[in-house]
Amino acid sequence: MLLLRWNLMPVRHLCLLACLLYIAPELSAQRPRPAVHVIATGGTISNLGSGARRTGEELIRGIPGLDTTFAVTVEQFSNVASGSITTEHWMALARRIDELFRTRPDLRGVVVTHGTDTMEETAFFLDLTVGSCRPVVLTGAMRRAVDIGAEGPANLYNSIRLAASPSARGRGTMVLLNDEIHAARFVTKANTSRLDAFASPDAGPLGVTDPDTLVFHQPPSRSCGTRTAQAPTFDMKSVGTLPRADIVYSYIGADSVTVNALVNAGARGLVLASVGRGGMTPGQAAAVRRGVDRGVLVIMSSRTGSGRVPLNEQEGLKDWSPGRGAILGAEDLNPQKARILLMLALARTQDPREIARYFRRP
Ligand code: GLU
Repeated sequence: MLLLRWNLMPVRHLCLLACLLYIAPELSAQRPRPAVHVIATGGTISNLGSGARRTGEELIRGIPGLDTTFAVTVEQFSNVASGSITTEHWMALARRIDELFRTRPDLRGVVVTHGTDTMEETAFFLDLTVGSCRPVVLTGAMRRAVDIGAEGPANLYNSIRLAASPSARGRGTMVLLNDEIHAARFVTKANTSRLDAFASPDAGPLGVTDPDTLVFHQPPSRSCGTRTAQAPTFDMKSVGTLPRADIVYSYIGADSVTVNALVNAGARGLVLASVGRGGMTPGQAAAVRRGVDRGVLVIMSSRTGSGRVPLNEQEGLKDWSPGRGAILGAEDLNPQKARILLMLALARTQDPREIARYFRRP
């Protein structure tokens, strides 16, 4: 009689516990696997030597047991060394990722496989043009798929783990190699061949992919909450063709020839890889001043590999009048990233006062 009374607390709890124990394994077996989309563009990760390349599909198949944990879809965007990636590729990639995030609400994130040489550039471009709170992760390999100790499969697996992880939300575009997670803004390739080639000299890595979990050392840069959408810095819907902007390296004895040639070739923007914190040779400085008179926007970055070149907005804009260019500092952007921001900014406006706003540190 006593045992049959449902409202008797201990008995009711025992029944609920038994039910939960019985159905819990069923529930977890049916829990959907996190969905990640992989876009393959080529690079060393796909390189089989003698001109042959693995496809994205083959890269995915090379990771044993992936399907039991993740629902991975894959597409082949290109299959080239990353020196052959163009600004047209960037725009198409940004639009494609935007489309994926709009049409696939199930997606946790996107992984892009890419050659390592220009990976930091593509990553920064996507960081500026993809607005989602969901992560985009670029990965690749320092060793070819046919080399002993090829680390491509581990990098790709860890990137899928990262893209699928809720803790990756609000972190924009990241680069993952060698178990390290880097923010697109800060990461750079700092060695030609070592496995630890990628570094973020001014900020350190965002985190690491340990075997059991992902560990982040820094908070997300975007405040997303439960939202999935977030406006990008540059919406690809309103970006037409990117104007010409080039990089000029500074070194002892550099004269005016390169700067003059680029201005004559129609460059609307120039980035100087200055010798230090904005320094260049007298010949380059004279050519830069002439370029500014002709409306060229000049951004001073540095060849040193780390540290800031101050934006110096007040000084840089004090002589500005419509039709003229200006000289501004890149803050902590290296020359190749400063060029990307400059091209996107120039695609939107000619006004150096507005362009200076984009170069302010976030
Ligand atoms: N590291 C080169 C790249 O960035 C490798 C070229 C290749 O083997 O495809 O793409």
